[in-house]
Amino acid sequence: MHPATEALLRWWDENAREMPWRGIRNPYGTWVSEIMLQQTRVDTVRDYYTRFMARFPTVRALAEAREEDVLKMWEGLGYYSRARNLHRGAQQVCEEFGGEIPRDPETLRRIRGIGPYTSCSIASIAYDVPVAAVDGNVIRVICRLYGLGDDPTETKARARIGELAEELVPEKRAGDHNQAMMDLGATVCVPGTPDCERCPLSKLCRARAEGTAEELPRLPKARPPREKEWDVLLIFSGERVLMYRREEKLLQGLWCFPMTEGHRTPEELRDAVRRRYGLETEKPEPAGEARHVFTHQVWRMKLYLLRTSGDAPEPAGMRWIPRGEIRALPMPTAVQAARRIAETQGERD
Ligand code: SF4
Repeated sequence: MHPATEALLRWWDENAREMPWRGIRNPYGTWVSEIMLQQTRVDTVRDYYTRFMARFPTVRALAEAREEDVLKMWEGLGYYSRARNLHRGAQQVCEEFGGEIPRDPETLRRIRGIGPYTSCSIASIAYDVPVAAVDGNVIRVICRLYGLGDDPTETKARARIGELAEELVPEKRAGDHNQAMMDLGATVCVPGTPDCERCPLSKLCRARAEGTAEELPRLPKARPPREKEWDVLLIFSGERVLMYRREEKLLQGLWCFPMTEGHRTPEELRDAVRRRYGLETEKPEPAGEARHVFTHQVWRMKLYLLRTSGDAPEPAGMRWIPRGEIRALPMPTAVQAARRIAETQGERD
């Protein structure tokens, strides 16, 4: 066994963090947790995972669920395409693999939403298949351990990192090893200044010896997210508010209020609502502002309350939702401020 692997497993035996999906030997649970953990902190995932598994305890239960119920259980976790893919992936497992989650990484990659990293993490954690699962944390550890200064987003450097990561995987306990690498990257070999004093690899680490740990990995500069302005329209017909289920790629399948891009005056908004939805409304009342940061864009939102007649028709593709039923719909965090206003301030005195 590689000396780094040995040191790491010894460290893991004493320092493994407790998580509800660890030590379960349930490939479905491993799959769910690995998808939830993408781009999301462990502490956020804990409760979501427990609730999700209680609601959909087996791959078959998930496959048979309605997409809207799956999205509701995912509400607030973000990156909703993960939930839609997990749902379709569960259906695929039932249709193509008789409800058994495959063990070999290549077969796993045929399942919706399972890519190179997730296939190897499921295979190693659930079935102890000796393959490396290389995520951002592992890339950082490998770059530092071997003192690699190339940009890891470039194909050649990425392939080299993959090879080095594979060399570290032991024949037995591959799952523990991969989780130990991820934990080390998340808690000790962190971005910025790593805690080398506490690191089980410190004696073997090239970046530590050369004093370059803080500079590695050398990632390209991220582009700042694009700013987008929206007017969010809370249009009331009596006690019902106008909503629609998004078909756009971003936040697909989630429920939102109508929005118009850019900021308009209340008069212009009223005209836009007449033209777009065929609804006559009273003058829009400003109801606050909200901001939401996605990975690649920032939404700056101005919220408006508008009132139309109690028997207004339903515009195409939209639904009048009774105020008391808003909460049951899966909605993105981006419009939670608007939801609170719709549930309270929209009430007539
Ligand atoms: S010694 Fe420091 S830089 Fe090297 S792997 Fe450990 S924490 Fe990372």
